[in-house]
Amino acid sequence: MTQPNPQPTSWKPVIGLEVHAQLNTRSKLFCPCSTSAGDTANKALCPVCMGHPGAMPRLNAEAVHLAMRAGLALGMRIHARSRFDRKHYFYPDTPKGYQLTQHAWPICTSGQLHLRKGEELVPFVVERLHLEEDSGRLQHDEDHALGDWNRAGVPLIEIVGAPDLSSPEEAEAWLRMLHRVLVAADVCGGAMEKGELRCDANISLQPPDGSPGVRVEVKNLNSFRAVRKALQHEVERLGGLLDSGEHLVSETRTWTGEKTERLRLKDQAVEYRFLPEPDLPDLVLNDGMVGQAVNTLPGLPPLDIHLLRSDDDTLAKWMKAFGLTREQVAVLTRSPDVANFFGQCVEAGGKPDQVAQWIQRDVTARLNERSVALAETPLRPNHILELQAGLDEGTITRAVALRILDWVMLRGGDIQGLVAIQDLGRIHDASRIQALTEQVLTEHPEQRAAYLEGHQERFGFLMGELRSASKGRIDPSDMKTALTQALEPKA
Ligand SMILES: [Zn+2]
Repeated sequence: MTQPNPQPTSWKPVIGLEVHAQLNTRSKLFCPCSTSAGDTANKALCPVCMGHPGAMPRLNAEAVHLAMRAGLALGMRIHARSRFDRKHYFYPDTPKGYQLTQHAWPICTSGQLHLRKGEELVPFVVERLHLEEDSGRLQHDEDHALGDWNRAGVPLIEIVGAPDLSSPEEAEAWLRMLHRVLVAADVCGGAMEKGELRCDANISLQPPDGSPGVRVEVKNLNSFRAVRKALQHEVERLGGLLDSGEHLVSETRTWTGEKTERLRLKDQAVEYRFLPEPDLPDLVLNDGMVGQAVNTLPGLPPLDIHLLRSDDDTLAKWMKAFGLTREQVAVLTRSPDVANFFGQCVEAGGKPDQVAQWIQRDVTARLNERSVALAETPLRPNHILELQAGLDEGTITRAVALRILDWVMLRGGDIQGLVAIQDLGRIHDASRIQALTEQVLTEHPEQRAAYLEGHQERFGFLMGELRSASKGRIDPSDMKTALTQALEPKA
């Protein structure tokens, strides 16, 4: 007789994030090459960022200033002395054969990132923050790998969070807060879709006895959603393997957008042969330099506990001024461009609760689908106002409004023009509605008959057919009236 399966064990997720953030500087970390070379490949290059023999790196003071500012914003200790090391690896995205990074002596250590849980502020440990240079970019086609080194040498900070996060949702909230701190401190532009902020996640599942689990790293997480989704996927995958008694291995995986896939096993890890960079002196900071970083920080370190004080002010002000709920304000103020957009819509005459609904529901869903920021779409406040006006005046239906929203978020354009050119106006004419209804019933005699025999659920099917036949241009209430009338047994 087989034993019944033991109850699935409750494994505890242990998660830590590592983030690379591009610093807002005009030039690279060790040479005067531009950080915004645009789309022309291999334009911003010099002997220093390509590592030619004899080329001497010089540290970008602005990058150091911004790294200090980020450290202060996170309440970190700033070290008077730090150093750069060569991290050796041979890969075509790295022209020099090594990357300069602060391996042994980082510029900042031990800070905190706070998350709000109800009324409480919960601190999470940030272990270290160090400066390093970015690598180049490779593009693959069928036969070739194309290299673009414009990004090689662009200044980054790497921020390493302690593994003290306990769920994918908490990890997403942590990254959102870090993003917000770096953007508010004017350290990083924060456009994740452009790679200005990139995240790798470490996760293990701890057994109930508290012993450490096997660690998996997931790379290439380029949106908040990807962080949550990839970690949810790993919690499920690892939990399933453990429940079925499998032996786990430490590995590095990548996120495809749907699932994670193995990149390499950890025991295949590369030996980097870290060596102190001989062409750069130690980075020594004096009180004046630290003082300057403190003075240019908007708000008090650690950035007014991540701007929560001003959050509370905004929250109270918006709730009062616009009659919105706490949750609505929280969503609208989550990113500065969404908050600005809302403000502009209201200023242009939009009703706050209606505008909030458009943004929270319809606009946000479309941004998430495409992983883009609002500021990167051609959507303008007048689009939302005109769509709402169309609904209020009954010139378009909601189904059509959503289709137009799809369009203007991709291509922009003039709403009234679109409605006129594409013939999207709401159909009011009762005889036209009746004709379309009759057409649908004629095309589906079996459904009509079934309905008349008492299968009421067929009504929904017929509504759907009428919606397609009219391209969504009849209001649902008009459709219902017309269908009900047409289906009435003729006396
Ligand atoms: Zn250069």
